Formats: sequence, C-alpha cells, structure tokens
Amino acid sequence: MLMPNDPNLLIAGVAIAGLVLIAFWRVIVWVREAPLKPDPWDAEVEQQLQEPATPEACPHCSTPQSPGAWFCPHCGRAVGPYNNLMPYVLVFSEGEVLRNGTQDRLRKSPVILIGYLLISFNFLVAATALTQTSVIFSLVILGSLLTFWYSLLKNFTRSASGKPDAPSA
Ligand SMILES: [Zn+2]
Repeated sequence: MLMPNDPNLLIAGVAIAGLVLIAFWRVIVWVREAPLKPDPWDAEVEQQLQEPATPEACPHCSTPQSPGAWFCPHCGRAVGPYNNLMPYVLVFSEGEVLRNGTQDRLRKSPVILIGYLLISFNFLVAATALTQTSVIFSLVILGSLLTFWYSLLKNFTRSASGKPDAPSA
C-alpha cells in the first residue's frame, strides 16, 4: 500500500475517504427513504401479471408474445428476456434505439441528447480504427455518423418545439 511521506497528506487522505463514506451512506439513506410509488394498475391486473400462464407482451405495442420469441410479430421490435445480452440480437436493439432517436418523439432533456451523442461515438471510434485498413469504409461510417447527428438534432428540435410528428414511411 502506498503511504505518503508527509503526514498531512495521510490525514487529508483519511479525511477525504471519510467524506466519501459519509456521502455514500447519505445516498443509501436517501434511496431507502424515497417514497414508494404505487403501481399504475389495480390489484386484479397485478394478480394476472403474477400468474405464470400470463404471456409476455411486447413493451412497445403490448402484443402477447409466444415463449422464446426474439422479435414482435406485430411491430418487429426485439423482445425477449435476454435479447440485449445476445450479440446478434443486440444489434437489432441498438438499431432500434438509434432509429428512435431520429424518428420517435424525444423528451426535451439534454441528458437524452448527450446520451445519443455518446452512443454514436462508438461509430467514430470504429471509423478511426478503420482508417488503418480501409479509408473508404471509414469515410462511409463518418458519413453515416454525420447523417445520424443531423437527423438526431433535427428530430430533437422538432420534438422540443412540440410540432406534430412527421409521417413515417
Ligand atoms: Zn410489438
């Protein structure tokens, strides 16, 4: 273990560690004392949800799903309990998230915009890594990224202004 030579640094380190522990404890207390929000459905629906015979439903369109389904037969979105952990199905979920950023109505929050920009930086990293091997493929990724950012900002400003959604193709 690293020990600082100056005793003042040691005391400062102990004090900072104590402040971090107190802050961590305050966060735990804050979460435990947060008020519970009631379910938006009644007791009958809650009982139906807990029954094992109740089929799972698509979180987007509420269509009942067959066991082991990967995609919703109605809306085509990725469904299933572990679909985001499987590398092949994960690609469809990520595509859905990115598509929602450019087409769906977004909540007016800078956190959402920052999240989408951070997600899209994956492609920037991929484009930079590919400049070593294929410049053309790297340029295609950069062009797609710029198109995505343009569509995202356009959709975000449209959603934030409260204008009606554009007709989907
Ligand atoms: Zn669906």
